[in-house]
Amino acid sequence: MRKVKPVAADRLPELLRRMPKAELHIHIEGSLEPELIFALAPRNGVKIPYASVEDLRRAYAFTNLQSFLDIYYAGASVLLKEQDFYDMARAYLLKAAQDNVVHAELFFDPQTHTARGVSMETVIHGLHRACADAQAELGISASLILCFLRHLSEEDAFETLEQALPYRDKFIGVGLDSSEVGNPPEKFARVFARCRELGLHRVAHAGEEGPPAYVWTALDLLKVERIDHGVQSGRDAALMQRLAADRIPLTVCPLSNLKLCVFPDLASHNLRQLLDAGLVATVNSDDPAYFGGYMNENFTQTFAATGLSSQHAYTLARNSFAASFIDAATRQRLIGRLDETFDTFQ
Ligand SMILES: [Zn+2]
Repeated sequence: MRKVKPVAADRLPELLRRMPKAELHIHIEGSLEPELIFALAPRNGVKIPYASVEDLRRAYAFTNLQSFLDIYYAGASVLLKEQDFYDMARAYLLKAAQDNVVHAELFFDPQTHTARGVSMETVIHGLHRACADAQAELGISASLILCFLRHLSEEDAFETLEQALPYRDKFIGVGLDSSEVGNPPEKFARVFARCRELGLHRVAHAGEEGPPAYVWTALDLLKVERIDHGVQSGRDAALMQRLAADRIPLTVCPLSNLKLCVFPDLASHNLRQLLDAGLVATVNSDDPAYFGGYMNENFTQTFAATGLSSQHAYTLARNSFAASFIDAATRQRLIGRLDETFDTFQ
């Protein structure tokens, strides 16, 4: 990793905001802000059990992953038409561009929508059109990763994959999300094997609340290329060595971990431990509408709480490009922009 010059603590937030970066762990349904939920609900004639934007925002006091998921699925119920999915992704991509995110890989949960009678075509077309427009209008490249809900069956995941295959050119890979504990990666070994045969990229949430054993099985049985979260890996020395040796990226989400009580406070977060062990860790926002911050908030708050340096900033941004599913030429170009930002920063 290239050595960068030290930057004073009071100038570090500006550098963190300005540096180009990729976001690799963003659930697009988790970017749905209360304001947009309240705009879409009357447009679609959907009743939501909250009186106002403030009332809904007050409900965002979570105690664990499940307490968040209950509200998350209620919020998604306002999404019915292609334009709704477009508007949601557009709103996220605008915010991402403001944070100098130059590439984003967006998770989406089709089962949350198909179970309510919304077609796969509606979901994928709306999201994909927003991604295509962002390239032309905002200068940010964006692609889609289809996530299977792990609290549902593998059979349901297979059915979802079948429904999505006619739109194979509009998503680059598959992931695994929702309630982790009790739904280990091995439950989805066959459907991930099929996705591998199809040439799809593979990622999975593992080691967020679940044990290091889930990270092992995500690697060995699902053959994933990245681990989403993975912070519990810090409890297993052999696993840490494996992740470093194989350069398996972790898409870490500090504010999410804080909100869902994975760590008691940001100062206790183990991001530094992961970086110091040579892991390809990255910073991401997960479900920013619910967890109190988009990319730059995740960076600035975590750096302020843990005392990370400009060298860590460079490493995290570079890791985000190394871990992304972009082609080699694009990766080199984006790293060049990153280097230039650090070279010219005063
Ligand atoms: Zn996530």
